[in-house]
Amino acid sequence: TTQDTLLEVNNIEVIYNHVILVLKGVSLKVPKGGITALLGGNGAGKTTTLKAISGLLASERGEVTKGSIRYRDESIQHADPAAIVRKGVIQVMEGRHCFGHLTVEENLLTGFYTRKASKSDMMADLEKVYEYFPRLRERRRSQAGYTSGGEQQMCAIGRAMMAKPETILLDEPSMGLAPQLVEEIFGIVKDLNEKEGVSFLLAEQNTNVALRFAHYGYILESGRVVMDGPAADLRENPDVKEFYLGMS
Ligand code: ATP
Repeated sequence: TTQDTLLEVNNIEVIYNHVILVLKGVSLKVPKGGITALLGGNGAGKTTTLKAISGLLASERGEVTKGSIRYRDESIQHADPAAIVRKGVIQVMEGRHCFGHLTVEENLLTGFYTRKASKSDMMADLEKVYEYFPRLRERRRSQAGYTSGGEQQMCAIGRAMMAKPETILLDEPSMGLAPQLVEEIFGIVKDLNEKEGVSFLLAEQNTNVALRFAHYGYILESGRVVMDGPAADLRENPDVKEFYLGMS
């Protein structure tokens, strides 16, 4: 099974500031070509899990103190974020981290920095981002800080695409967006998955939409995986229905 498993997180514990235990043994797998959802309420540990994988914990005084994180059967646990991006894994952070003072196009081009490729490759990849996100093409000369929340989320995903990732860790893409835009963004995620073969690990509080688009889901509660299964099974599970689907 390791053959089609890209990412394997095995029983990790994460501690912030040397004392605050936030993940208490989280395990999950991201298969090649899948959309995997990481579900759970506010503070369950979704963002922490993504940052543990992408190497972004250190800048938050967080540390993986137990367990292992492997990508394509190699440990990435002590690698720095840029090295992890070069291996093919990139995180799109919650809150659509675009550079507000740069234009949309400049933001997209910053996503290219980890790659050693020619300018013509860069322009071809930019064109591809615009094909997936026609709105970004329309807004390409606008300062990102003045675009809408949905456009900034698209910009953040587009910038990640410029790094040509094999796997995108996508944190809470639905946050603060109107339902119609949420559908639009998830639709693009699905296209990127199906047409470009990008694998996703997607953290979401919006269980409803996440389980419609994902293939497999993990539910986190207080730093532990309490349930996992194919998305179709989770959608039909009485506990999931009661505690996670009823409200969204
Ligand atoms: P959210 O939807 O709010 O992002 P989440 O499931 O992603 O929720 P995390 O952001 O991973 O949850 O947070 C999990 C727990 O870790 C929370 O109790 C939070 O207060 C704590 N935490 C997060 N970052 C830090 C930090 N830098 N230092 C200390 N504690 C932190």
